[in-house]
Amino acid sequence: MRQQFFYDHGLRFQCQPACAACCKISGKVRVTESEVSRMAKLLRMPETAFKKTYVNETETPWILKERADGACAMLDEQDRCRVHAERPGQCRRYPFWPEILANEFTWILEKQICPGLDVGELYPWRRIEKILKGEDEAGGFPPEPAVAE
Ligand code: SF4
Ligand code: SF4
Repeated sequence: MRQQFFYDHGLRFQCQPACAACCKISGKVRVTESEVSRMAKLLRMPETAFKKTYVNETETPWILKERADGACAMLDEQDRCRVHAERPGQCRRYPFWPEILANEFTWILEKQICPGLDVGELYPWRRIEKILKGEDEAGGFPPEPAVAE
């Protein structure tokens, strides 16, 4: 029998326009080799140059570098993700991360960062668990609503 979780009635999430708060917070954005390849291709950069500029290869798994202000290095001056169409899976799954979904308190705590929690589209638990398994992604994340692609 399936264990009960606080999100069994679903959770609401809608990325908010002109935000990008989650991209501005210092943290580890983990990337795989194939994600790096796709991002480099999108920016029309040789992979070696892309890695030198944007990837910290001393960490395992690799992580994206940060700007001096702690924001993700892929965030441009207009708060747009330079690699939005090929952003890493970790970004695509936010805010449905295991640590945020650990319990109701961790979800509520994340609201201090993300104004998109508990508003907008309802994600049923089945979809949430698919996102957790990497089989689906959260729609509209970020900062897509803030930019015209
Ligand atoms: S997911 Fe959207 S609303 Fe939430 S912090 Fe990130 S950019 Fe802001
Ligand atoms: S969405 Fe883009 S800018 Fe934001 S954390 Fe992910 S890669 Fe960085």
